[in-house]
Amino acid sequence: MTHGFETRAIHSGQQFDPTTGAVVPPIYQSSTFVQDGIGGFRGGYEYARSANPTRDSLQTLLADLEGGTAAFSFASGLSAEDALLRSVLKPGSRIVMGNDVYGGTHRLVSRVHVPWGVTLDTVEMSDLDAVRAAVRPGETDVLWVETPSNPLMKISDIAALAEIGHAAGAVVVVDNTFASPYLQQPLSFGADAVVHSTTKYIGGHSDVVGGAVIVRDDELAAKVGFIQFGVGAVSAPMEAWLTIRGVKTLGVRVDRHSSNALAIAEALSTHDAIDRVYYPGLSSHPGHELAARQMKAFGGMLSVSLKGGGAAARTFAESTELFQLAESLGGVESLIGYPSEMTHASVRGTELEVPDTIVRLSVGIEDVSDLLADVEQALDRVA
Ligand SMILES: *Cc1c(COP(=O)(O)O)cnc(C)c1O
Repeated sequence: MTHGFETRAIHSGQQFDPTTGAVVPPIYQSSTFVQDGIGGFRGGYEYARSANPTRDSLQTLLADLEGGTAAFSFASGLSAEDALLRSVLKPGSRIVMGNDVYGGTHRLVSRVHVPWGVTLDTVEMSDLDAVRAAVRPGETDVLWVETPSNPLMKISDIAALAEIGHAAGAVVVVDNTFASPYLQQPLSFGADAVVHSTTKYIGGHSDVVGGAVIVRDDELAAKVGFIQFGVGAVSAPMEAWLTIRGVKTLGVRVDRHSSNALAIAEALSTHDAIDRVYYPGLSSHPGHELAARQMKAFGGMLSVSLKGGGAAARTFAESTELFQLAESLGGVESLIGYPSEMTHASVRGTELEVPDTIVRLSVGIEDVSDLLADVEQALDRVA
């Protein structure tokens, strides 16, 4: 019998140590493994770039939680994305991605892959007709989807996009970083690959940088596995172990992130200083119904635009006390960011540019009354 998500998050790939009975499997902080005679590998382990038991344990766990057949763990989200893209793109290939993907993803493709002969086109991913027009049969190799998107929390229809992408012969990829597998499992809607910055909700404690690719097809798994081994941007044992430790509480954390974010979104949507709240959990959000179908809850990320413009937005972002001004997201502690000059500075001047009126909140799991009081006092300082 398959267990529920939260049981698997704690037990999948996590057998106790057979030698000592240690409940938590040890961190195999070893670069190489003794051979019983030449080629006599114990458990298949030879050298830690090709495989390490701690990384294997994380990979088994992530594959299970996303409903894939294989997962590959990397040193960062972007190195995971790069490995996946290098395994499916070659000079002359074409990739279509959302016009509001994570800025670093756009930078990776436009400034690393495009100079090697890849073509990049961006499209409004929540507009299925626009995607149908942009994805050309036999010419589009990758359709790259991010939902919810960053920072405007647009929701895209994964099942419909998988169908459009497959009809054109493209590999359909979903960046599932904002939702996490607890809220949304893109492979179950037909996507071919999921990527994560495990730095965010999966790690969950702002203490480790990492990334992952999860797939359900053996041929694609073999290609990504070869790049992981052949290029070597693997996660180190300590990072893999910290990530496993984080995953165990993913469900309870994300439930609290989601309820806290909804409370803040509701409070801000009636605040005088706020022009608009971008949170898929609000019924006024254009992607609300789709998100309700596709996600278990609405997550901990929201953005707001301020009536007072860029100056007001900056003041707000610099005036919170519990919400710390920092890049990144998905940790237990609340963070606030000013995308146009922080996370999205690299896409200024492109069509991915974020308006200077936008402030992004990564709502943590502190007491919601304290978080509400903090945003209220910061908005009081916005003239
Ligand atoms: C942070 C992030 C990435 C990049 O991951 P790193 O771990 O920083 O390399 C990719 N996609 C999304 C949506 C992110 O938030």
